Amino acid sequence: MGRNLRTTYHFDMDPPMIARASIHSVPFYCGICAILALCSLYGFVYLIDDALPTPLMVNDERSNPGAFIAERAIWTLKNLTDMGPRITGSHINEYLAVEYLKSQINLIIEQANESQMLKLDVQLVSGAYYLDAHASGAINSYHDVQNVIVKLHGRDVTQHSILVNSHFDSVPTSPGGSDDGINVAAMLEILRVLSTSSSKPSNNVIFLFNGAEETPLQAAHGFITQHKWAKHCKAVINLEAAGAGGKIILFQTGPETPWLTKYYAMVPYPYGQVAGEEIFQSGIIPSDTDFRIFRDFGGLVGLDMAFFKNGYRYHTKYDDFSHIPHGSYQHVGANALSLVKNLADAPELSQSAPGKAVYFDIFTWFLVSYTNSAGVIINVAIVVLSVGVFVYSIRSIHFGLTKSTCKYIGLVLGATILSWLVAGTSVLIIALVLDLAAKTMSWYGNPWLIFGLYVVPTLALSGCLLFFTNHENLSLNIRCQIQAHAVRLIWTVILFSMVCFNVRSAYALMVPVLFNSLGFVVIYCCRWQYTVTKWRLAYLHTSRRFHNESGDIVDSDAGYFFLNLDRNSPGVLTNYVKELSEAQSVAKRCDQYIMCGLPLGHAKMMEIMQYSTWIPSAQPNLAVPMEFSFEKEILTSTKIRYNLTISGPDRFTLYLAPKESVTVTNLSLVDEVKPSAATFKHRPVYFVLYQRGKGGNNFSFTLDVEVPGNWNGTAMDIAVTCRYVHEDTMNRTPEFKTFLSQFPEWADLTAWVAAYYTYII
Ligand SMILES: [Zn+2]
Repeated sequence: MGRNLRTTYHFDMDPPMIARASIHSVPFYCGICAILALCSLYGFVYLIDDALPTPLMVNDERSNPGAFIAERAIWTLKNLTDMGPRITGSHINEYLAVEYLKSQINLIIEQANESQMLKLDVQLVSGAYYLDAHASGAINSYHDVQNVIVKLHGRDVTQHSILVNSHFDSVPTSPGGSDDGINVAAMLEILRVLSTSSSKPSNNVIFLFNGAEETPLQAAHGFITQHKWAKHCKAVINLEAAGAGGKIILFQTGPETPWLTKYYAMVPYPYGQVAGEEIFQSGIIPSDTDFRIFRDFGGLVGLDMAFFKNGYRYHTKYDDFSHIPHGSYQHVGANALSLVKNLADAPELSQSAPGKAVYFDIFTWFLVSYTNSAGVIINVAIVVLSVGVFVYSIRSIHFGLTKSTCKYIGLVLGATILSWLVAGTSVLIIALVLDLAAKTMSWYGNPWLIFGLYVVPTLALSGCLLFFTNHENLSLNIRCQIQAHAVRLIWTVILFSMVCFNVRSAYALMVPVLFNSLGFVVIYCCRWQYTVTKWRLAYLHTSRRFHNESGDIVDSDAGYFFLNLDRNSPGVLTNYVKELSEAQSVAKRCDQYIMCGLPLGHAKMMEIMQYSTWIPSAQPNLAVPMEFSFEKEILTSTKIRYNLTISGPDRFTLYLAPKESVTVTNLSLVDEVKPSAATFKHRPVYFVLYQRGKGGNNFSFTLDVEVPGNWNGTAMDIAVTCRYVHEDTMNRTPEFKTFLSQFPEWADLTAWVAAYYTYII
């Protein structure tokens, strides 16, 4: 098949050009070979990416002295995940998990080499800080959250410390296998390996097992701002997860510490990309790790590493023990052990070295790393070289700048740019069609559908366009030469155009288009979108009470709040759950109630709260009633102090909306008081999160406001909300259970009980 077009010219050309053109022409099979080569390279990378190190068992210890033994970490994680979700404030997290860690650490201390000095400390800490959460923001306060901390003393007198951090708490919806149990287990094994060695590191190593990360980032804040060992910490190795299993990737270093990558390059299984750092630090990903707290509140530098594979399991019940391959333990354990050892001896700890590093691994075999300024030089050199090659290619085919050759170049460039536009538009149209057909995100559970839905039509359409523009106007050989020599960046377009031009048969286009149509049929026939990947849904069975200025209840109701986390909610479920057809949008209530009347648990939720829906129901069962009281103190004619006390479960959120011409001047929780991004009737709203850990106290704080002279009215609207998220405090009513039982198997439900009470004070 295929007819060589070397002789098919539609324009007059200079004779030398035709002669040279034939030497440089590309036979049709080159395009196919190039595509096959790229596909197999992709397959190779895919296989390499999946390959995990061999986990070491206890039996292997004798032949691998001083090595990380995955088997021990495996058993630790089994014990941790068997407890169930370890939710900050719950008995499991605050007692069982803490006691388990203490017993394991004490065992390690008992068996340590006699030359080592180890100290265990359990910190019970309270505090608050302003959490900047991507265009929202909240005052994040905590009471008696816990940190289990071990210090392995170094031999140097400098007393610098390396901090290694992971969190043993989990979200309520997950047993926290990868997030972050595997890292807790790995840290225990690293501690054991270091403590049995006869040689001491130069600097101290501090192992921080923190008990409140998901709340968010509270225990890390408590440690770095208040613990006696924090001020000597210079660098941190933070171990996290936003997926389940796979390899732990280095996705963030710094700030201003190019020397850190030198030590990362020494780990046995390097796996890191500076691109991740760029993406993460740009703020596109609405997530943060304890790394930010150590950096911003403690001035630490360091490395942030996380498991990202199988991101759809993140924070679900599928992030469990059974979904973690044994090689994952070896990957994090061996890498982190090497890093801890080398950083603890690093002379750079006491020096500052500004600059940034560019780094990436090659097939996970080794790490390439150079400074940012070297990166700039390399980039400029590549650009100059590319332009040089382009100019050389043009000259070598004696491509004189005549009127007709300018026309060729114009057409070639025009056709290429047009093909990109067509490709972009086609993707948008397909997305729009899927959206109109209520099949948004059909690919979510089956990512391979992206190939059929988007990749094939994009390539087919842009390729077709190039094919026809060539047929009508262009010369194949000139195109191939200019493109093949010049622009590496657009290799996809080049390759596809080569195939289209040379294989002048409809098959090349028919096959992918047919394949694609088949993909559409399959999607329309099956409800596939969430069957492989569970669809996360959040319901809050909420009791609401509205009080007037005298403190009397003027209205009350109850219902299910449905936080619509994606485009398909709640419509896609109305066939399963009949009550969903009665769902009312809360948007029109946002002027009536602060935060649209929702008991939000995270500042990030502000951005999507107006998409929530509400289904009226009977009252929930509040196992621990929420109570709010306040005292008002007139300090001066323009200053009022409120003493507020709230009791109930361990999680509260408060929204404070001062009236017009009233200013909040002080909140006893934080030094500097800042409103959130949300407003209520054009007034600022202060968003306060509160989490209790081990303690059983009430939440109390004082609030000072400034009012105009001789003010005798109320100063602010306040909504007090609480959430019952774990078995110690949550009690679902039979009606709520029946409601939940209607959901299909692929719906991964987060179903909590909540209260939302408003007051005017
Ligand atoms: Zn985590």
